[in-house]
Amino acid sequence: MPHPPTHAHFPPSHRPRLSPLPADPEIIVIGAGAAGIAAARRLIERGRRVAVLEARDRVGGRAVTTLLRGHAVDLGAHWLHAGPINPLVRLGQARREPLRRAPQESHVWVGRRPGRPDEAAASARAFARADRDIGRGAAEAGPDRPAASALPPSLGPWGARVALVHGLVSGLPLSEVSLHDFPSMEYGDNFFIAGGYGAYLARLADTLPIALDSPVTRIDWSDARVRVETASGLTLGARSVIVTVPMMVLRESLAFTPALPPGIRAAIDGFHTGIYEHAVLHWPSSPFRGADRLASIVGGRHRPPGLLARLDGTPFHYFELDAPSAAAIDAGLGGADAARRHVRAVLAEHFGFARLHDLAIPAVSAWRHDPWSRGSWAVVPPGHAGARQALQDSVCGRIRFAGEALSRLQWGTAGGAYQEGMRAADAAADAL
Ligand SMILES: Cc1cc2nc3c(=O)[nH]c(=O)nc-3n(C[C@H](O)[C@H](O)[C@H](O)COP(=O)(O)OP(=O)(O)OC[C@H]3O[C@@H](n4cnc5c(N)ncnc54)[C@H](O)[C@@H]3O)c2cc1C
Repeated sequence: MPHPPTHAHFPPSHRPRLSPLPADPEIIVIGAGAAGIAAARRLIERGRRVAVLEARDRVGGRAVTTLLRGHAVDLGAHWLHAGPINPLVRLGQARREPLRRAPQESHVWVGRRPGRPDEAAASARAFARADRDIGRGAAEAGPDRPAASALPPSLGPWGARVALVHGLVSGLPLSEVSLHDFPSMEYGDNFFIAGGYGAYLARLADTLPIALDSPVTRIDWSDARVRVETASGLTLGARSVIVTVPMMVLRESLAFTPALPPGIRAAIDGFHTGIYEHAVLHWPSSPFRGADRLASIVGGRHRPPGLLARLDGTPFHYFELDAPSAAAIDAGLGGADAARRHVRAVLAEHFGFARLHDLAIPAVSAWRHDPWSRGSWAVVPPGHAGARQALQDSVCGRIRFAGEALSRLQWGTAGGAYQEGMRAADAAADAL
């Protein structure tokens, strides 16, 4: 059955004022997510004529904020990860954006009761040991292997929890994730932004020359000038293009004439699809207090991999769906209602039906069924660890790639995508 891209039903909280495309662009940017916005801003800063073509009727890509009951809620990216190296943190601080540091404290819930201090300490120790061992394994020379193989065997009852959380934030179970690619992500020093990450990116797109509703279908680079065709009938030419569409989309629905060189094509096709979806809860009676705290729920039959409680101090929470839960939902009836039933069943097991009396699930994301993302981010499977690097070079100086998938240190994040957008823009401007 068709799955509605449920997050797509919610309007963005901010729509930027956009400028018309220049008549004779020097560079075309495809996609107006974090990477495309960064590339366009950087090219304009450098005095270049740029045109951005975006498939959707909004900017921001996998980062979008909507208003639910008057509160700004992100339906995609929410954390500004890796503060010290995230360009969106640096820029936000310079612009005096309302950033706040993510708390370090988290909740532990065991079966049907709050965890004891010794259980919380044991959980923290297990995560620290796993991080150390995976980090060592990743630094080893020799052939790549699944990240799961580097987990210490003796984490006791917390081992399953560690694997579940790392599988969630990796986008696939650790048995399907490259060890050599794995610990590139810096999780320390995270931030949130009042009003939402999607709204922040949309503000950064203010006044940029972006054509919405313009899905690119073909890139013809057979001549010195690249020609870009869209489904809306618009055709544009330029000296070069920066392609920021997700790898999962690039794999299936964008044609290149002539075909891309085999090494580039192999790098793109070798990524796997990472899945991470939000079910947004409105749950005033949740037992979790304190703003923006993660909750570890362990024990019992259902073990939710991620719960972020009381977003910005509101009664909103995220219940995160990982790849196996999304697959189980899709294998059944699928759709947002099936996801809601799944979430209720899990919460009822741990908190009892009575506590769910005021639980509402106003939104469930389904980025995996959205034709413009086809997943949450690109995952490097074991043996494919060179892919991000392979895509950094231009194709004959005319095609450059950018986006979260190219970032070695911040893969899967909006900050990484933004960094890559700036890098590709600088390379394109330098080459003109
Ligand atoms: C549920 C969820 C939660 C997440 N949480 C976080 C988080 O907390 N923190 C974090 O940093 N990251 C998070 N991420 C990841 C983050 O959203 C992405 O890594 C980042 O937004 C990717 O930016 P991008 O520019 O590479 O790609 P995108 O944002 O996908 O932008 C690409 C753009 O290209 C457009 N496009 C696609 N095909 C075409 C075409 N043919 N023609 C023209 N345009 C096209 C798309 O519409 C899109 O606007 C999350 C992702 C999801 C799904």
